[in-house]
Amino acid sequence: MLTANENRRAEVNDLARESYRDITLYSAVGGQCRFDLSDNTNLWGAPPAALRALATVGAAQITRYPVAFEPALRNALATYAGVSPDMIACGCGSDDVLDSAIRAFAEPGEALCVPDPSFSMIPVFARTNGLRPLSIPLTRWLDADVDAMVETGARIIYLCSPNNPTGTAFSRKAVEQIVDRAPGLVIIDQAYVEFGGDDFTDLASGGRPVLVTRTMSKAFGLAGLRVGYGIGSPELITEVLKARGPYKVSSLAERASIAALDDDRAWVTERVNEVIANRSRFRAELAARGIGSLESSANFVLLPVNDSTATSSKLERGGVCARPFRNLPGIGDAVRIAIGPWEMMQRCLDALVADDRAAAPTMPGQSS
Ligand code: PMP
Repeated sequence: MLTANENRRAEVNDLARESYRDITLYSAVGGQCRFDLSDNTNLWGAPPAALRALATVGAAQITRYPVAFEPALRNALATYAGVSPDMIACGCGSDDVLDSAIRAFAEPGEALCVPDPSFSMIPVFARTNGLRPLSIPLTRWLDADVDAMVETGARIIYLCSPNNPTGTAFSRKAVEQIVDRAPGLVIIDQAYVEFGGDDFTDLASGGRPVLVTRTMSKAFGLAGLRVGYGIGSPELITEVLKARGPYKVSSLAERASIAALDDDRAWVTERVNEVIANRSRFRAELAARGIGSLESSANFVLLPVNDSTATSSKLERGGVCARPFRNLPGIGDAVRIAIGPWEMMQRCLDALVADDRAAAPTMPGQSS
């Protein structure tokens, strides 16, 4: 005899798309500890100009729809990226731009090629849009494998530089060769471009079908507002916007993003410089404790470890959340740690080398 819950689950299972059955709901880590270094956001906070802009929001921004396709935000982003506004498509995070582009440029059943390891949402976006994700391991030097990726013949090739979760940047040579030889769209995800590696925006105006995606969630400290953008030829951008649809960026998010872009560029640059300084100091301190880490061009570092569950539990006991990864190709288990103010990094270092035998178990209700 099935319970009511089991009955409902079986019924929904029968109704839901078959190809969705083994897709699991995204589960975020973090949020439970004093220092959450799990999601690569700006750990110094939000740009002051964005907060001021939000404090002056009136009914007009709330009762009416935003202006369709965010012309004012696209202007501000175009100035920042050094392109024309018709080369910009915004979205509810760059997730939305990536998802829309995938939908716009491949029919169900076609393939999307993604490096492995890379951004974990890409195979999910491929599958929810009816595509077949094809994972191609990174080279020994953690670069994109040009021949293997191109030879898949995939309709969409996704690249990510600096790459999540490795933090490493792809070489310009590999990216350019893929752009030259790809049979279809090339997406270059540059969510972390402010922190290092080559800026590939020029390839979006080079006459080949290239979409560069970026975000306001990382260097700009606005992850909670959900604003991302793509850069491509005006024709390509129109296709992305068709797939995305209107009103995906709220008036509040648009307003705060414009304020940050217009008035707080210097604030963002200062935070980025702190990330870069703390990133090398953190890696040096890790090395001094005998802990290896991958070179990083992003606002996080990846530490290969024997057992990522054990390491992240150890960090949690020290009040630090990090993102564990299991058995990454060519790397094995690893833990990804975002770079923030030095106080957080010191806490993280202390937690990593804490002597577990000396640690007293935390009792329920006891603060740590
Ligand atoms: N691309 C990469 C490589 C990311 O790591 C992330 C977020 N973790 C995103 C895209 C999506 O970011 P958002 O939707 O906040 O712009």
